[in-house]
Amino acid sequence: MSAFREYGDLGMNRRIPRRDFLNGVAIGITGAYAAARSRVVAAAEPAQAPAAAAADYPPLRTGLRGNDPVAIAGFGPLGRGDYRQFPALDVDTREVYDLVIVGGGISGLAAAHFWRRALGQNQKILVLDNHDDFGGHAKRNEFKYQGRTFIGYGGTMGIATPFPYSYTAKRLVEELGIQVERNNEFAARAPIQKLDLGPGMFFDKEHFGEDRLVAGNGRIPWPEFFAKAPLSDQARKDLIRVYGKNPDYLAGLSVEAKIAKLATMSWQDFLVQHAKVSSEAIPFFMGQGGRNNKRVDTTPALEAARRGSVGFNGLGLEVGEGFRESSYTFHFPDGNASLARLLVNRLLPSAVPGAQSMETILQAPVDYAKLDESTAAMRIRLSSTVVRVQHAGPPDRAKSVRIAYLRDGKVHGVSAANVVLACYNSLIPALMPELPAKQQEALAYSVKVPMMYNNVLIRRWTAFAKLGVSNINSPCMLHTGTSLDPGTTISGYRGVTTPDEPILVHMTSNPNKPGLPRKEQNRAGQQQLLSMTFEQFELEIRRHLTRMLGSGGFDPATDIVGLTVNRWPYGYSYTYDTLGDPDVPPEQRPHVIGRQRFGLVTIANSDAGAAAFTNQAIDEAHRAVEELFVRAGLT
Ligand SMILES: Cc1cc2nc3c(=O)[nH]c(=O)nc-3n(C[C@H](O)[C@H](O)[C@H](O)COP(=O)(O)OP(=O)(O)OC[C@H]3O[C@@H](n4cnc5c(N)ncnc54)[C@H](O)[C@@H]3O)c2cc1C
Repeated sequence: MSAFREYGDLGMNRRIPRRDFLNGVAIGITGAYAAARSRVVAAAEPAQAPAAAAADYPPLRTGLRGNDPVAIAGFGPLGRGDYRQFPALDVDTREVYDLVIVGGGISGLAAAHFWRRALGQNQKILVLDNHDDFGGHAKRNEFKYQGRTFIGYGGTMGIATPFPYSYTAKRLVEELGIQVERNNEFAARAPIQKLDLGPGMFFDKEHFGEDRLVAGNGRIPWPEFFAKAPLSDQARKDLIRVYGKNPDYLAGLSVEAKIAKLATMSWQDFLVQHAKVSSEAIPFFMGQGGRNNKRVDTTPALEAARRGSVGFNGLGLEVGEGFRESSYTFHFPDGNASLARLLVNRLLPSAVPGAQSMETILQAPVDYAKLDESTAAMRIRLSSTVVRVQHAGPPDRAKSVRIAYLRDGKVHGVSAANVVLACYNSLIPALMPELPAKQQEALAYSVKVPMMYNNVLIRRWTAFAKLGVSNINSPCMLHTGTSLDPGTTISGYRGVTTPDEPILVHMTSNPNKPGLPRKEQNRAGQQQLLSMTFEQFELEIRRHLTRMLGSGGFDPATDIVGLTVNRWPYGYSYTYDTLGDPDVPPEQRPHVIGRQRFGLVTIANSDAGAAAFTNQAIDEAHRAVEELFVRAGLT
């Protein structure tokens, strides 16, 4: 099929709410798409999202979001050392703060909250963030379609507890009025359950010889499921075997010896070398793995065993130990963006006015113009990339810190008596090159996990209903996860109820390069996300949905009515594992060495906790603020 024909069939020429134009200049429109678009533009539908509304309200901006190109434009020069010398200021704001916080994610906002709770609301605080919205990973996406608003999460999905919430984190959640025990009250799975939709698996022709969607993984007996899948006889036999009752593949070893052995091999190596699974069956496992987006080749076999993954049930090991999840869970339709909004409501009531609660916050108006008012003690300044943080004098004696940031292409400066860096660990050495070498090395150790949480608004989900699936795993595609997000009925916002209604489809991705060590895979995935254009993401998504759902009547040209790509090259915080990281005592871990206070500057953010969760972001904020109090003799 010609590129022109394919682009037309896929609907690449359709006008949907997506940010094709940035500052009046077309972005990401290249090659065949540009040609196709220019020829069919006369037939295009009217754009759905009013551009003016999106200009004032970041969640309505569609297209390439997450770590969007404008937000991270300053990271390149920063990483190359362009700001080693404190830069000359284009704009000296002459503003002086009690506290400047770099990073307006949950950690940065929580740090401001803890500071004000301890020292009062007159404290002058400035939060600087490089994005056009606050919340960091807790990102809200909105779409307007046929007079209705659809709200989705572009990052941090919810409160969840692989590691239990500390007293500090729980107390903050309570102070914000979030009653996690009410989660079920607001969950909207009913439409999916009513239609008896469930999981499916998409086998792609590049890895399995043909495109085929098979429903029922985990729901119907595995032999029945594998019988429907396009697999070789050998792969089918192996999969049926390991998904059943396995023999003890490590017979003869003590439990301790088994644990030690499993800790140093990947789940994939265990399957191939010990369970004797043929290499033809391995692609089936590519979309599965361990916590923090580890895949079959980067998940330690011990972690897989403890999670109850297949292949290990003959080994006589305890399952679930240390990995139990609790009921401390809550999900707003926009994920933890609502939590960030509740924090901003407490910090800056003029920007999120009213006595907001968990029941009202989702629909509460946010006035972005009020985030940074010159008369306010508390200010949040967006679209501001900090490039240099330097003590005015020797760090142990200095009374203030100078902060330089890029805004509107100019270098601005402010100063503060205290600074919390609630940003990304790996950038901190470039922000403060005077940090001790050992601390810089420790901060640079981690490599964030590249991810995408993309939202596709479709005008109906009859194809999902017809094919009997609500969520699809595509083990070998760029997007491994595709799921219907019916939304939550809360705060006057109504979740989706029938397949004839529009719905958000959530597509997740963890780009990587199987075969390399995990950190290398993360780096490769980051590069992939940074190098792909919006057009390429859109094309990939349209093709993928069509291949999976075409037989159910899905028509990408007419069914897709909105798209927001949230690419996060700087996604989850790095966590350690027994395959790639040395086994050292906790105090020698890089994140602990890296987060030491330096003069008037402390370090928050979830990287500083080496765990990619909201509770860590909160706990690290609390620690960072406490360290400044201790230094000032306030505790
Ligand atoms: C796709 C995705 C899904 C997730 N889902 C969940 C989930 O369901 N539950 C959960 O608990 N956790 C989840 N997480 C983990 C999430 O990272 C944490 O929960 C938490 O939101 C992290 O908050 P943070 O403030 O530490 O970091 P961030 O949210 O990353 O905030 C840091 C902020 O600092 C900014 N910054 C960096 N450098 C600079 C600079 N030089 N100048 C100015 N600003 C700067 C960043 O751009 C960012 O806005 C998810 C993460 C991702 C990426």
